[in-house]
Amino acid sequence: MPLVKTHFRTCNLCEAMCGLEIKVIDQEIQSIKGDKNDPFSKGYICPKSMALQDIYNDPDRLKRPIKKVNGKWIEISWTEAYDMAVEGIKKIQKKYGNDAVAVYQGNPAAHNIGSMLFSSSFLRALKTKNKYSASSVDQLPQQLAAQWMFGHIFTIPIPDIDSTDYFLVLGANPMISNGSLMSAAGMPNRIKALQSRGGKMVVIDPRKTKTAQAADQHVYIRPGKDVFFLAAIIHEFFEKQLIDINQLPKWMIGIDAISNIFKRFTPKIAEEICGVKKEIIEQTAADFIAADAAVCYGRLGVSTQEYGALCHWLINLINILSGNFDKPGGAMFPKAAIDIVGFMSKKGTFKKYNRWQSRVRKLPETNGELPVAALAEECLTPGDGQIKAFICSNGNPVLSTPNGKQLEKALSELEFMVSIDIYLNETSKYADVILPPATGLEIEHFDLFFNNLAVRNVAKYSSPLFKPEKGMQYD
Ligand code: SF4
Repeated sequence: MPLVKTHFRTCNLCEAMCGLEIKVIDQEIQSIKGDKNDPFSKGYICPKSMALQDIYNDPDRLKRPIKKVNGKWIEISWTEAYDMAVEGIKKIQKKYGNDAVAVYQGNPAAHNIGSMLFSSSFLRALKTKNKYSASSVDQLPQQLAAQWMFGHIFTIPIPDIDSTDYFLVLGANPMISNGSLMSAAGMPNRIKALQSRGGKMVVIDPRKTKTAQAADQHVYIRPGKDVFFLAAIIHEFFEKQLIDINQLPKWMIGIDAISNIFKRFTPKIAEEICGVKKEIIEQTAADFIAADAAVCYGRLGVSTQEYGALCHWLINLINILSGNFDKPGGAMFPKAAIDIVGFMSKKGTFKKYNRWQSRVRKLPETNGELPVAALAEECLTPGDGQIKAFICSNGNPVLSTPNGKQLEKALSELEFMVSIDIYLNETSKYADVILPPATGLEIEHFDLFFNNLAVRNVAKYSSPLFKPEKGMQYD
């Protein structure tokens, strides 16, 4: 009888951090299931988890560096690949200055202990202002609101979904995402639990998402007008005296200014602009206050719009004013085993906004990075500081960032490009050299980052399941 081994690990493919139970005979995976004893996901997984097996077995995955010679890719040694990358970057820095080298980090970088531990030193060493990442595609407004209100881009209050009685959701689809900037593996089960303890989920969304379908109430809102709905909720808090301002946290400042500002944002005005009936706005405000514990959460839909940062500021304000901040069932700060904020905090961290701007459109930096929507024009527009070389780490921005066609054109005109990637894809095909790291089941895993955004405090370490093949390297 062949020996079946069982391996337990945390899925590193998204923010949800589900626990997996993997059965293996020799080097062959027999099954991947949810780990029922995982304290965080309790057996839940999504179909994407199977991709860990697919990636491991995929004959198209790169395992050794390749370089482009006359349009053809050839395998090279790691020494040659590193030399080529270093020389290519240095040549551009010497010829045009440090800002001529741009760097982009994709999502997988944040789910990988190696890149989390070492990429910040690498980025600092590049001394470039042209840093970009997937964060600017859909979440910087939320981080900016966190920085301005609570002092750091990662002091993001997280809904205590497992204890709340009233979950107000705007522009988010956690039934499918399992939470974003709210790691919550098994969200469908968490919502069911909320409803079976008598709680309610109210979804404000122009789309009939899976989350909207599972909600107790789904309210249509005009896209991009959420800010008026949120402002009218705060108006109701003051106008109907639903809140006791004497009970507000002592650290809260500017309460009189806030109550004055929101006087004019009546539910009637909000109805005209955002399309949500005034009676629904009034009822939502009243229900939110009446609940023993309530929490308001917004994500991509309220971030990728004109008033993104303001929407998130208002969401935080609703949680604070209603007495649902830093309290069970409300919005809370996780206590991860590795405190990323404590790790990163140093003098000046709290003011990392608009210290420099993009060259062409003058878009502001946030926490050291520029919006990736500016990357292509920074490559294509001639002049001092034009990007001439590009390092793409763990990402495919041609597919995942705005105006991919323009970015393709930009990448095709660069003087030098390095990709750190396990695939030859729509972006890495423009590189001169590709360095593929070992990944997934071949590496140890501890989520340094997303435990800081999780709905429960857990610490899960996974050892590698397989040894990387000879000639492969860790990132
Ligand atoms: S939800 Fe995310 S972490 Fe969970 S199994 Fe799917 S991809 Fe993996």
